[in-house]
Amino acid sequence: MYRKTYAQINLWNLKQNIKNAAANLPHGCGIVAVVKANAYGHGAVACARAAKQAGACMLAVALAEEALPLREADKDIPIMIIGRSNHEQLSLAAEIGLQPCVFTPDDILFLQRICKKSGKTIDIHLKFDTGMCRIGIRSNSELEECIKTLSACPNVHLAGVFTHFANSDARNKADTCLQHQKFLHYIEILNARGFHPVVHADNSAGTIDLPQFSHDMVRFGISMYGYYPSDEVDKQAVRLRPVMEVFAEISHIKTIEAGESVGYGSTFTAARATKVATVQIGYGDGYNRLLSNKGSMIVTTESGSWYAPIIGRVCMDQTMLDITDIDGEIYTGDIVTVLGEKEGKSITADDIAKICGTISYEVLLDFNERIPRVYT
Ligand code: PLP
Repeated sequence: MYRKTYAQINLWNLKQNIKNAAANLPHGCGIVAVVKANAYGHGAVACARAAKQAGACMLAVALAEEALPLREADKDIPIMIIGRSNHEQLSLAAEIGLQPCVFTPDDILFLQRICKKSGKTIDIHLKFDTGMCRIGIRSNSELEECIKTLSACPNVHLAGVFTHFANSDARNKADTCLQHQKFLHYIEILNARGFHPVVHADNSAGTIDLPQFSHDMVRFGISMYGYYPSDEVDKQAVRLRPVMEVFAEISHIKTIEAGESVGYGSTFTAARATKVATVQIGYGDGYNRLLSNKGSMIVTTESGSWYAPIIGRVCMDQTMLDITDIDGEIYTGDIVTVLGEKEGKSITADDIAKICGTISYEVLLDFNERIPRVYT
């Protein structure tokens, strides 16, 4: 590592988050570790391995190709694809043993054709759109068509059925209950036709607030990485610890005079002599430019840890902090906490998300491949 800007991924916390979630679920309920988008920016292979060690029964990706490094690292773990796959992706799924999400007769027939040719069978998960209006079966007749097709496709095995909740992270669960009722209706039809697939619906919010809807397994995403999906879920139900911390190095320190301005556009003008630390992180690393003049970082000295406000605009590679009021010595080369907790001070992805008008998911994912991941 040359530049000392890095993300520390605490896999012990990830495992603990899974175990705490499992304790909130009915005995025997499986946990699918959602490791799409490079495990929400945390590093898919390492997180998948840790999740399996903590008892996860399956991995979930959004794209078939996201499963390639996962399958290389683990020949056995079941991996499902939660998004819709095109023909190239379905072919890859059949080839390396993934379980795709399917909801049309055409895709079932395509899988049957390629699996018959290769002499394989493939496990699929039928997706139901019960209110998200994104992907999935939306009516009895669409389900009947799929059932008919499945019955004629011996190489395609209905392993699972699932739906996705649009509002399970809201305090009011009325929408989610309605979605769940619709889902149960489809399951009843399948059961009556002799299909008894694995059933799953809950995401992180459902895992925390609606364990009664967990069925055979839950698809556990953001909370595996230590964040509650919203402020409206019951945070007492499952204890979570953030998995990612981000650190960066101070590259320069100087004092500017009152009246001098900092950064592009001179958006911060010093009202007094101001000690400025320049830190080696910027929007080129995924550190959001909306934090300009609003965010802060944690600076640690021999006398404690302190919030240092960002002054001026976040640049592509560098960000300036006001360290005038910080007690203790600060040196070039010191490491500051961009995301994480230090001696009672903390900056979470939720804190950054609030300033940037987004959600913790996006903040975590924003820290890009320019920032090396270090695992502990
Ligand atoms: N299931 C599906 C179908 C999803 O799309 C997602 C996330 O986008 C998840 C589960 C995991 O959701 P969360 O990260 O809120 O747990």
